[in-house]
Amino acid sequence: MDDLLDLDQVIERFDPAIGLEVHVELNTASKMWCGCSTAPGADPNTQVCPVCLGLPGSLPVVNGKAVESVIRIGLALNCDVAEWCRFSRKNYFYPDMTKDYQISQYDEPICFDGSVDLEVDGRTYVIGIERVHMEEDAGKLVHGGATGRIHDADHSLVDYNRAGVPLMEIVTRPVPGLGAEAPAVARAYMAHLRELMRALGVSDARMEQGNLRCDANISLAPKGRTELGTRTETKNVNSLRSVEAAITYEMRRQGAILSSGARVKQETRHWHEEGYTSPGRSKEQAEDYRYFPEPDLVPVAPSREWVEALRATLPEPPAGRRARLQAEWRFTDLEMRDVLGTEGALELIDATVAAGASPASARKWWLGELARRANESGAALDDLAIGPRQVAELQSLVDAGTINDKLAREVIEAVLAGEGDPAAVVEARGLAVVDDDSALSAAVEEAIAANPDVAERIRAGRVQAAGALIGAVMKQMHGRADAAKVRELILARLG
Ligand code: ZN
Ligand code: MN
Repeated sequence: MDDLLDLDQVIERFDPAIGLEVHVELNTASKMWCGCSTAPGADPNTQVCPVCLGLPGSLPVVNGKAVESVIRIGLALNCDVAEWCRFSRKNYFYPDMTKDYQISQYDEPICFDGSVDLEVDGRTYVIGIERVHMEEDAGKLVHGGATGRIHDADHSLVDYNRAGVPLMEIVTRPVPGLGAEAPAVARAYMAHLRELMRALGVSDARMEQGNLRCDANISLAPKGRTELGTRTETKNVNSLRSVEAAITYEMRRQGAILSSGARVKQETRHWHEEGYTSPGRSKEQAEDYRYFPEPDLVPVAPSREWVEALRATLPEPPAGRRARLQAEWRFTDLEMRDVLGTEGALELIDATVAAGASPASARKWWLGELARRANESGAALDDLAIGPRQVAELQSLVDAGTINDKLAREVIEAVLAGEGDPAAVVEARGLAVVDDDSALSAAVEEAIAANPDVAERIRAGRVQAAGALIGAVMKQMHGRADAAKVRELILARLG
């Protein structure tokens, strides 16, 4: 096990720099250079052809939909779009790609010079985007043996179905000026990308499925030095939690090495879910790949008209949308922070408001009673068996005076138990507030008769004593009464 320095000691002595390279698998129907299907779950080596198997004489053709997706992503990341760019061959030994080169982009990425504003714990961080480029995925190796790991496998199998699936790589600039929050900022960036890919509809962006994979570069420099330290690159980290944990681990490991006077070795590292990184290969330099322009593909030259037409298809940026909704809903900063701090709450409240509820009531239900129930059952808010339309219906029953808040909680219970929509539950369980004046009056009379001393005090002008009688009436009506109306009746009866 590596020696680790406490994170606060790391921050006392060093400035961390992080840089993230994120691969996104696009959700196009066909592969990057051929018409083979990208549908998941097929038998091994059934979605292949001479192009994606790299057979002699085959020629690649660019997937137009993939180019469109990458341009939209670049625009959403505030990048410039190249007027003209080429593909390059990246030469390597790829056991999972028969060509032994990957078609990628080298010095001419399609999108470049972008930025993302991230808000983490009330502070805004600007993440510079160096480039977004197109490339292809490799096939998949399946290692035989008990552990499925390469070093104790007696054989390995290869499935080329994934070879040639469109990939996009988003590369950040090193992010400066971070302290102990560096891992949390990296995590927030990944969460932002995931949200953005889904909003654009260009990728399923499921990290656990490998649609979105992060290579995290981390280095430490002695405090106050502008020159970056030697970095390590932890490959293929595939959950938000792991991104945060892997960066924290590398900061602590490198901190211990540098504090002992030794040097950090430039290398790739592997993340283990048990919570540590281990060395991989020592990192090649870009020159080692012998990049050269891909001679089998024509350059890509997106017209400005096309780029502008694609810009018009962009969804509202997440940060702008949050600001717009806060203004429309008239939520305070504190209220909005609560909403954003609960996963899924923003979407649910938005949909509940769209279904007719007031923003305040939508927030009250989702962050109150429903959040409490989700918490209790360990479920996510949007996994509850009640949706925005039903919450809006519930609130309309409250607004109409059909049920009160207490009965509404009973209705929620029934909806969650699968008894149907709120109005149907109120009907079936007979939960409506009793609106019948004679029934209420009878209950009021009974309460007065049972509490003569209280009634006497109210008659003497001590109006606040009415609370005790209201409670008695509500109890007798099993909560099915409008408290304001009961109060009115009591005061009218007792002068
Ligand atoms: Zn193919
Ligand atoms: Mn790549």
